[in-house]
Amino acid sequence: MKRSIDFSRYSSIKIGPICEVEVIERIDPAYERLFLVGKANNLLLSSTPPPLAILGKNFDYIRIEENELIIGAATPTGKVVSFCKRHNIAGFEFLAKLPGTIGGAVRMNAGVKEYEIKNVLRWVRTYQGKILAKDLGLKYRQSSIDSIVYEAGFTLQRGYSEKLRQQLLALRSNQPKEPSAGSVFKNPPGEYAGRLIEAVGLKGKRVGNMAFSPIHANFLVNLGGGTYVEAMALIKEAKEKVLDKYGIVLQEEIIVL
Ligand SMILES: Cc1cc2nc3c(=O)[nH]c(=O)nc-3n(C[C@H](O)[C@H](O)[C@H](O)COP(=O)(O)OP(=O)(O)OC[C@H]3O[C@@H](n4cnc5c(N)ncnc54)[C@H](O)[C@@H]3O)c2cc1C
Repeated sequence: MKRSIDFSRYSSIKIGPICEVEVIERIDPAYERLFLVGKANNLLLSSTPPPLAILGKNFDYIRIEENELIIGAATPTGKVVSFCKRHNIAGFEFLAKLPGTIGGAVRMNAGVKEYEIKNVLRWVRTYQGKILAKDLGLKYRQSSIDSIVYEAGFTLQRGYSEKLRQQLLALRSNQPKEPSAGSVFKNPPGEYAGRLIEAVGLKGKRVGNMAFSPIHANFLVNLGGGTYVEAMALIKEAKEKVLDKYGIVLQEEIIVL
C-alpha cells in the first residue's frame, strides 16, 4: 500500500516535498531498497529524496514478555513513556518529549545526557532475525543499523521515576518553539556544537526563512516557509567557519536526504 505524505507538514522541521511512500505492514527483505522514515524528527528532505517507506500500524505495539519489553518500531516514544508510567517500568523516562518512533530512537541511539537507548536495548528484529544490541555499534547518536528495524526488545526493570522525567523535561525549557529537527550537529568530543556556532558568530544567523536559533544555536529553526536550500546554506557556513577557526569538523546529527 502507498500513502502520499507532504513532508512540509509531516517532518518536524516542516520542509520537504509531497512523496508517495510505501506503507510496510509485514517483514520482507524486498523493502530494504527503500529509505525508512519514522516520524521525520531528525530528517531534512531535499526536493528529490530517495524512495521512501514508513512502518504501518502492525508495528505499533508494546508487550511485556517474561523479563522483556517488546516494542514495535512504529510505536511513538510518547506512548512508550505512558506505558512505562502505567506499568512502573524504569529506564524510558528520557523519551518524554523526545519526539519520534522507537525505530528512529534505536537507529539514532537517541538520548538525553547519559540516558540513551543503548542503556536499555537488548536486541532488534530486522528481516535477518534478531540482532543483539552489542552488535549494533551503538555510540553517541550513532549506530551501524542499515536495515529496517521492525521491533526491539528492552530490559524490563521496575521503578518508573516521575522525578527523573520532570528533571529531564526541565532541560528542554530552553528549547526553541519554532519547527526544527532538534540538534543539527552532534557535539564534538569535549565540546558543544552550539557553543562553536555561537563562537563563529552564527547564533541567530538567518538565511531566508531558516535560522540558527537565537535561543539555542544548535537548533536550525524554520521561521515559516523555510527551504532545504536555505537550511543547507546555513549548515555549510557553520561547518566552514568552525573548521576555519577551530579545526573542528562538525558532523551533522540531522540526516539529509
Ligand atoms: C524538538 C526536538 C527535540 C529533539 N531532542 C532530541 C534529544 O534530546 N535527543 C535526541 O537524541 N534526539 C532529539 N531529537 C531528534 C529526534 O527526536 C530523534 O532523532 C528521534 O529518535 C527520531 O525519531 P523518528 O522516528 O522521527 O526518526 P526519523 O527522523 O524519521 O529517522 C531518523 C533515522 O532513523 C532511521 N529510522 C527510523 N525508523 C527506523 C526503523 N524502524 N528502522 C531503521 N531505521 C529507522 C531513519 O532511516 C533515519 O536514518 C529532537 C528532535 C526534535 C524535533
